[in-house]
Amino acid sequence: MIWIILILCVIAVIVHRIWVSVAAKRRRSAGGSPFVGGLVALLDGDYNSAINLLKEAVRDQPQDIEPYLRLGDVLRDTGEVKRAIQIHRELTVRPGIPKKTMARIFLSLARDYAAAKRYDRASATYEQALNLAPENEKIMEELLQIYEEMGEWDKAYLLRRDIAKVRKVDDTHMLALYKAYIGKMYLDRKDAKRAESNLKDALKIDSECAAAYLYLGDLYYEMGNIDDAISAWRRIITLYPEIAYITFRRLEKAFYEKGRFEKIVDLYNDVLERNPRDIKTIMTLANIQRKKGNLDEALRLCQTALELEPESRRVKQALARLYYEKGETERSLQAMVEAFNGFSSDEEYYYCSNCGHKSNEVLWRCPRCKAWETFV
Ligand SMILES: [Zn+2]
Repeated sequence: MIWIILILCVIAVIVHRIWVSVAAKRRRSAGGSPFVGGLVALLDGDYNSAINLLKEAVRDQPQDIEPYLRLGDVLRDTGEVKRAIQIHRELTVRPGIPKKTMARIFLSLARDYAAAKRYDRASATYEQALNLAPENEKIMEELLQIYEEMGEWDKAYLLRRDIAKVRKVDDTHMLALYKAYIGKMYLDRKDAKRAESNLKDALKIDSECAAAYLYLGDLYYEMGNIDDAISAWRRIITLYPEIAYITFRRLEKAFYEKGRFEKIVDLYNDVLERNPRDIKTIMTLANIQRKKGNLDEALRLCQTALELEPESRRVKQALARLYYEKGETERSLQAMVEAFNGFSSDEEYYYCSNCGHKSNEVLWRCPRCKAWETFV
Protein backbone atom coordinates (compact mmCIF):
# COMPACT_ATOMS: atom_id res chain seq x y z
CA MET A 1 0.00 0.00 0.00
CA ILE A 2 2.74 2.41 1.00
CA TRP A 3 4.55 1.68 -2.25
CA ILE A 4 1.49 2.59 -4.28
CA ILE A 5 1.16 5.91 -2.42
CA LEU A 6 4.86 6.65 -2.91
CA ILE A 7 4.66 5.90 -6.63
CA LEU A 8 1.58 8.09 -6.95
CA CYS A 9 3.43 10.90 -5.18
CA VAL A 10 6.40 10.61 -7.52
CA ILE A 11 4.11 10.65 -10.53
CA ALA A 12 2.31 13.70 -9.17
CA VAL A 13 5.61 15.55 -8.73
CA ILE A 14 6.74 14.65 -12.25
CA VAL A 15 3.43 15.71 -13.79
CA HIS A 16 3.57 18.99 -11.88
CA ARG A 17 7.12 19.70 -13.08
CA ILE A 18 6.17 18.99 -16.68
CA TRP A 19 3.08 21.17 -16.37
CA VAL A 20 5.11 24.04 -14.93
CA SER A 21 7.72 23.85 -17.67
CA VAL A 22 5.07 23.62 -20.39
CA ALA A 23 3.29 26.64 -18.91
CA ALA A 24 6.61 28.47 -18.76
CA LYS A 25 7.41 27.65 -22.39
CA ARG A 26 3.97 28.74 -23.49
CA ARG A 27 4.38 32.06 -21.70
CA ARG A 28 7.87 32.57 -23.08
CA SER A 29 6.71 32.08 -26.63
CA ALA A 30 3.79 34.40 -25.99
CA GLY A 31 5.82 37.18 -24.39
CA GLY A 32 9.05 36.86 -26.31
CA SER A 33 11.47 36.91 -23.37
CA PRO A 34 11.55 34.99 -20.11
CA PHE A 35 11.37 38.29 -18.22
CA VAL A 36 8.18 39.38 -19.96
CA GLY A 37 6.82 35.84 -19.60
CA GLY A 38 7.61 36.02 -15.88
CA LEU A 39 5.70 39.29 -15.53
CA VAL A 40 2.72 37.80 -17.38
CA ALA A 41 2.79 34.76 -15.10
CA LEU A 42 2.85 37.13 -12.11
CA LEU A 43 -0.22 38.92 -13.41
CA ASP A 44 -1.92 35.53 -13.78
CA GLY A 45 -1.01 34.68 -10.20
CA ASP A 46 0.97 31.68 -11.43
CA TYR A 47 3.89 32.02 -9.04
CA ASN A 48 5.65 28.77 -9.88
CA SER A 49 6.01 29.71 -13.54
CA ALA A 50 6.90 33.27 -12.60
CA ILE A 51 9.74 32.08 -10.40
CA ASN A 52 11.07 29.73 -13.10
CA LEU A 53 10.89 32.33 -15.86
CA LEU A 54 12.44 35.06 -13.73
CA LYS A 55 15.28 32.71 -12.75
CA GLU A 56 15.82 32.09 -16.44
CA ALA A 57 15.81 35.84 -17.11
CA VAL A 58 18.39 36.31 -14.38
CA ARG A 59 20.62 33.66 -15.97
CA ASP A 60 20.19 35.22 -19.44
CA GLN A 61 20.91 38.80 -18.38
CA PRO A 62 22.77 38.77 -15.08
CA GLN A 63 23.61 42.47 -15.49
CA ASP A 64 19.92 43.49 -15.44
CA ILE A 65 18.47 44.60 -12.12
CA GLU A 66 14.78 44.26 -12.89
CA PRO A 67 14.51 40.43 -13.13
CA TYR A 68 16.40 40.05 -9.81
CA LEU A 69 14.21 42.61 -8.14
CA ARG A 70 11.01 40.91 -9.28
CA LEU A 71 12.30 37.43 -8.51
CA GLY A 72 13.06 38.53 -4.94
CA ASP A 73 9.57 40.05 -4.66
CA VAL A 74 7.83 36.86 -5.80
CA LEU A 75 9.93 34.76 -3.45
CA ARG A 76 8.95 37.00 -0.54
CA ASP A 77 5.30 36.89 -1.51
CA THR A 78 5.41 33.09 -1.67
CA GLY A 79 6.97 32.83 1.78
CA GLU A 80 10.63 32.40 0.86
CA VAL A 81 11.63 35.50 2.76
CA LYS A 82 15.22 34.48 3.47
CA ARG A 83 16.00 34.01 -0.21
CA ALA A 84 14.27 37.26 -1.04
CA ILE A 85 16.44 39.10 1.47
CA GLN A 86 19.55 37.46 0.04
CA ILE A 87 18.71 38.46 -3.54
CA HIS A 88 17.74 42.04 -2.69
CA ARG A 89 20.76 42.53 -0.45
CA GLU A 90 23.10 41.45 -3.22
CA LEU A 91 21.56 44.12 -5.43
CA THR A 92 22.23 46.87 -2.88
CA VAL A 93 25.99 46.39 -3.16
CA ARG A 94 26.12 46.51 -6.94
CA PRO A 95 28.05 49.51 -8.23
CA GLY A 96 26.66 52.12 -10.59
CA ILE A 97 22.96 51.75 -9.88
CA PRO A 98 20.93 54.96 -10.37
CA LYS A 99 19.38 56.51 -7.28
CA LYS A 100 15.81 55.88 -8.32
CA THR A 101 16.45 52.18 -8.90
CA MET A 102 18.36 51.90 -5.65
CA ALA A 103 15.38 53.35 -3.80
CA ARG A 104 13.21 50.59 -5.27
CA ILE A 105 15.73 47.95 -4.23
CA PHE A 106 15.76 49.26 -0.65
CA LEU A 107 11.96 49.35 -0.70
CA SER A 108 11.83 45.69 -1.73
CA LEU A 109 14.41 44.73 0.88
CA ALA A 110 12.53 46.67 3.56
CA ARG A 111 9.36 44.75 2.68
CA ASP A 112 11.33 41.51 3.02
CA TYR A 113 12.43 42.46 6.53
CA ALA A 114 8.90 43.54 7.40
CA ALA A 115 7.60 40.17 6.19
CA ALA A 116 10.21 38.48 8.39
CA LYS A 117 9.04 40.71 11.31
CA ARG A 118 12.59 42.06 11.65
CA TYR A 119 11.24 45.54 12.27
CA ASP A 120 14.57 47.16 13.25
CA ARG A 121 16.09 46.17 9.94
CA ALA A 122 12.88 47.02 8.10
CA SER A 123 12.68 50.55 9.48
CA ALA A 124 16.39 51.23 8.81
CA THR A 125 15.98 50.00 5.23
CA TYR A 126 12.80 51.99 4.61
CA GLU A 127 14.70 55.03 5.90
CA GLN A 128 17.47 54.35 3.34
CA ALA A 129 14.86 54.12 0.59
CA LEU A 130 13.28 57.38 1.74
CA ASN A 131 16.67 59.13 1.72
CA LEU A 132 17.01 58.25 -1.96
CA ALA A 133 13.39 59.05 -2.81
CA PRO A 134 12.22 61.77 -0.42
CA GLU A 135 8.49 62.44 -0.33
CA ASN A 136 7.69 59.06 -1.84
CA GLU A 137 4.28 58.45 -0.29
CA LYS A 138 4.33 54.68 -0.62
CA ILE A 139 7.61 54.41 1.28
CA MET A 140 6.41 56.89 3.91
CA GLU A 141 3.13 55.04 4.45
CA GLU A 142 4.81 51.67 4.85
CA LEU A 143 7.49 53.05 7.15
CA LEU A 144 4.75 54.61 9.29
CA GLN A 145 3.17 51.17 9.75
CA ILE A 146 6.53 49.80 10.90
CA TYR A 147 7.04 52.65 13.40
CA GLU A 148 3.56 52.01 14.79
CA GLU A 149 4.28 48.31 15.05
CA MET A 150 7.50 49.08 16.95
CA GLY A 151 5.81 51.63 19.22
CA GLU A 152 8.18 54.31 17.90
CA TRP A 153 5.60 57.04 18.42
CA ASP A 154 8.11 59.91 18.31
CA LYS A 155 9.30 58.90 14.86
CA ALA A 156 5.77 58.04 13.76
CA TYR A 157 4.60 61.51 14.72
CA LEU A 158 7.31 63.27 12.70
CA LEU A 159 6.73 61.04 9.68
CA ARG A 160 2.97 61.51 9.84
CA ARG A 161 3.56 65.27 9.88
CA ASP A 162 5.74 64.96 6.77
CA ILE A 163 3.08 62.89 5.02
CA ALA A 164 0.44 65.53 5.79
CA LYS A 165 2.77 68.17 4.35
CA VAL A 166 3.38 66.20 1.16
CA ARG A 167 -0.33 65.53 0.72
CA LYS A 168 -1.26 69.07 1.79
CA VAL A 169 -3.95 67.78 4.13
CA ASP A 170 -5.01 68.81 7.62
CA ASP A 171 -4.16 65.87 9.85
CA THR A 172 -4.31 67.60 13.25
CA HIS A 173 -6.71 65.08 14.77
CA MET A 174 -4.39 62.12 14.14
CA LEU A 175 -1.23 64.10 14.90
CA ALA A 176 -2.64 64.96 18.31
CA LEU A 177 -3.49 61.30 18.85
CA TYR A 178 0.11 60.33 18.07
CA LYS A 179 1.34 62.92 20.58
CA ALA A 180 -1.07 61.47 23.12
CA TYR A 181 0.47 58.05 22.43
CA ILE A 182 3.95 59.47 23.04
CA GLY A 183 2.67 60.89 26.31
CA LYS A 184 1.09 57.56 27.26
CA MET A 185 4.39 55.81 26.49
CA TYR A 186 6.24 58.10 28.95
CA LEU A 187 3.41 57.66 31.44
CA ASP A 188 3.94 53.90 31.32
CA ARG A 189 7.66 54.47 31.85
CA LYS A 190 6.87 56.65 34.90
CA ASP A 191 8.51 59.66 33.23
CA ALA A 192 5.96 62.21 34.42
CA LYS A 193 7.72 65.26 33.02
CA ARG A 194 7.94 64.02 29.45
CA ALA A 195 4.47 62.52 29.67
CA GLU A 196 2.96 65.84 30.69
CA SER A 197 4.76 67.88 28.05
CA ASN A 198 3.73 65.52 25.25
CA LEU A 199 0.11 65.30 26.41
CA LYS A 200 -0.04 69.08 26.57
CA ASP A 201 1.49 69.24 23.10
CA ALA A 202 -1.31 66.97 21.92
CA LEU A 203 -3.87 69.43 23.29
CA LYS A 204 -2.04 72.33 21.63
CA ILE A 205 -2.42 70.53 18.31
CA ASP A 206 -6.04 69.53 18.92
CA SER A 207 -7.71 71.01 22.00
CA GLU A 208 -10.42 68.33 21.73
CA CYS A 209 -8.14 65.26 21.81
CA ALA A 210 -9.98 62.81 24.08
CA ALA A 211 -6.98 60.48 24.42
CA ALA A 212 -4.81 63.34 25.69
CA TYR A 213 -7.37 64.28 28.36
CA LEU A 214 -7.70 60.66 29.41
CA TYR A 215 -3.98 60.13 29.93
CA LEU A 216 -3.42 63.59 31.37
CA GLY A 217 -6.03 62.65 33.97
CA ASP A 218 -4.17 59.39 34.61
CA LEU A 219 -0.93 61.31 35.04
CA TYR A 220 -2.44 63.79 37.51
CA TYR A 221 -4.08 60.97 39.39
CA GLU A 222 -0.78 59.13 39.72
CA MET A 223 0.86 62.32 40.93
CA GLY A 224 -1.82 62.57 43.63
CA ASN A 225 -3.39 65.60 42.01
CA ILE A 226 -6.91 64.22 42.05
CA ASP A 227 -8.81 67.46 41.39
CA ASP A 228 -6.90 68.08 38.16
CA ALA A 229 -7.38 64.45 37.21
CA ILE A 230 -11.12 64.79 37.68
CA SER A 231 -11.32 67.96 35.59
CA ALA A 232 -9.25 66.41 32.78
CA TRP A 233 -11.58 63.40 32.64
CA ARG A 234 -14.66 65.61 32.87
CA ARG A 235 -13.49 67.42 29.74
CA ILE A 236 -14.07 64.18 27.83
CA ILE A 237 -17.63 63.95 29.16
CA THR A 238 -18.31 67.54 28.13
CA LEU A 239 -16.77 67.14 24.68
CA TYR A 240 -17.91 63.62 23.87
CA PRO A 241 -20.87 62.49 26.00
CA GLU A 242 -21.22 59.42 23.80
CA ILE A 243 -17.88 58.07 25.05
CA ALA A 244 -18.23 59.42 28.60
CA TYR A 245 -18.16 55.86 29.91
CA ILE A 246 -14.42 55.52 29.27
CA THR A 247 -13.88 57.82 32.25
CA PHE A 248 -16.39 56.25 34.66
CA ARG A 249 -14.17 53.74 36.42
CA ARG A 250 -11.52 56.39 36.83
CA LEU A 251 -13.90 59.05 38.11
CA GLU A 252 -15.55 56.68 40.57
CA LYS A 253 -12.17 55.86 42.06
CA ALA A 254 -11.17 59.51 42.20
CA PHE A 255 -14.41 60.70 43.80
CA TYR A 256 -14.25 57.83 46.25
CA GLU A 257 -10.76 58.82 47.31
CA LYS A 258 -11.83 62.40 47.72
CA GLY A 259 -14.66 61.19 49.96
CA ARG A 260 -17.13 62.73 47.49
CA PHE A 261 -18.64 59.61 46.08
CA GLU A 262 -22.07 61.31 46.04
CA LYS A 263 -20.75 63.55 43.27
CA ILE A 264 -20.55 60.66 40.88
CA VAL A 265 -24.32 60.23 40.92
CA ASP A 266 -24.79 63.90 39.93
CA LEU A 267 -22.26 63.41 37.17
CA TYR A 268 -24.02 60.37 35.74
CA ASN A 269 -27.33 62.17 35.91
CA ASP A 270 -25.78 65.07 33.99
CA VAL A 271 -24.55 62.68 31.32
CA LEU A 272 -27.98 61.06 31.09
CA GLU A 273 -29.71 64.39 30.79
CA ARG A 274 -27.68 65.10 27.70
CA ASN A 275 -27.76 61.59 26.37
CA PRO A 276 -30.82 59.79 27.81
CA ARG A 277 -30.38 56.65 25.70
CA ASP A 278 -26.84 55.98 26.91
CA ILE A 279 -27.12 52.39 28.16
CA LYS A 280 -23.60 52.25 29.56
CA THR A 281 -24.26 55.24 31.81
CA ILE A 282 -27.71 53.98 32.83
CA MET A 283 -26.24 50.65 33.87
CA THR A 284 -23.30 52.23 35.68
CA LEU A 285 -25.70 54.43 37.62
CA ALA A 286 -27.95 51.45 38.35
CA ASN A 287 -24.98 49.62 39.81
CA ILE A 288 -24.18 52.54 42.09
CA GLN A 289 -27.79 52.75 43.27
CA ARG A 290 -27.64 49.04 43.91
CA LYS A 291 -24.43 49.34 45.93
CA LYS A 292 -26.07 52.10 47.95
CA GLY A 293 -29.01 49.84 48.68
CA ASN A 294 -31.49 51.76 46.48
CA LEU A 295 -32.73 48.62 44.83
CA ASP A 296 -35.98 50.15 43.54
CA GLU A 297 -34.13 52.97 41.81
CA ALA A 298 -31.63 50.46 40.39
CA LEU A 299 -34.52 48.34 39.11
CA ARG A 300 -36.16 51.35 37.48
CA LEU A 301 -32.94 52.20 35.67
CA CYS A 302 -32.45 48.63 34.50
CA GLN A 303 -36.00 48.52 33.18
CA THR A 304 -35.36 51.74 31.24
CA ALA A 305 -32.22 50.14 29.83
CA LEU A 306 -34.14 47.03 28.86
CA GLU A 307 -36.70 49.12 26.98
CA LEU A 308 -33.85 50.71 25.03
CA GLU A 309 -32.07 47.44 24.38
CA PRO A 310 -34.51 44.53 24.85
CA GLU A 311 -31.95 41.92 23.81
CA SER A 312 -29.18 43.00 26.14
CA ARG A 313 -27.85 40.05 28.09
CA ARG A 314 -26.04 42.32 30.46
CA VAL A 315 -29.22 44.17 31.41
CA LYS A 316 -31.16 40.94 31.87
CA GLN A 317 -28.45 39.55 34.12
CA ALA A 318 -28.51 42.73 36.18
CA LEU A 319 -32.29 42.55 36.51
CA ALA A 320 -32.11 38.94 37.61
CA ARG A 321 -29.66 39.87 40.26
CA LEU A 322 -31.69 42.84 41.50
CA TYR A 323 -34.86 40.79 41.82
CA TYR A 324 -32.87 38.21 43.67
CA GLU A 325 -31.48 40.84 46.04
CA LYS A 326 -34.95 42.21 46.63
CA GLY A 327 -36.06 38.77 47.75
CA GLU A 328 -38.54 38.52 44.89
CA THR A 329 -36.87 35.48 43.62
CA GLU A 330 -37.73 32.01 42.68
CA ARG A 331 -35.20 29.30 42.40
CA SER A 332 -34.92 29.71 38.65
CA LEU A 333 -34.00 33.34 39.04
CA GLN A 334 -31.39 32.45 41.62
CA ALA A 335 -29.90 29.94 39.22
CA MET A 336 -29.79 32.59 36.52
CA VAL A 337 -27.91 34.96 38.79
CA GLU A 338 -25.39 32.30 39.61
CA ALA A 339 -25.03 31.32 36.00
CA PHE A 340 -24.57 34.80 34.63
CA ASN A 341 -22.79 36.62 37.45
CA GLY A 342 -24.69 39.92 37.05
CA PHE A 343 -22.86 43.21 37.11
CA SER A 344 -19.36 43.45 35.89
CA SER A 345 -18.50 47.12 36.09
CA ASP A 346 -15.05 46.23 37.41
CA GLU A 347 -14.51 44.11 34.36
CA GLU A 348 -15.65 46.26 31.53
CA TYR A 349 -14.58 45.37 28.03
CA TYR A 350 -14.18 47.36 24.88
CA TYR A 351 -14.46 45.88 21.42
CA CYS A 352 -12.90 46.92 18.12
CA SER A 353 -15.76 47.75 15.76
CA ASN A 354 -13.56 46.67 12.88
CA CYS A 355 -12.34 43.21 13.92
CA GLY A 356 -14.01 42.55 17.28
CA HIS A 357 -10.76 42.50 19.28
CA LYS A 358 -11.52 42.61 23.01
CA SER A 359 -9.66 44.80 25.46
CA ASN A 360 -10.23 45.79 29.08
CA GLU A 361 -8.79 49.23 28.43
CA VAL A 362 -10.04 51.67 25.83
CA LEU A 363 -7.63 51.66 22.90
CA TRP A 364 -7.17 54.22 20.17
CA ARG A 365 -5.38 51.86 17.82
CA CYS A 366 -6.44 48.25 17.55
CA PRO A 367 -3.45 45.94 18.21
CA ARG A 368 -4.96 43.25 16.03
CA CYS A 369 -6.25 44.95 12.86
CA LYS A 370 -4.21 48.17 13.37
CA ALA A 371 -7.25 50.34 12.69
CA TRP A 372 -7.47 53.69 14.46
CA GLU A 373 -10.30 54.78 16.76
CA THR A 374 -12.44 51.70 16.36
CA PHE A 375 -12.96 51.18 20.11
CA VAL A 376 -15.00 54.26 21.02
ZN1 LIG B 1 -9.48 45.67 15.25
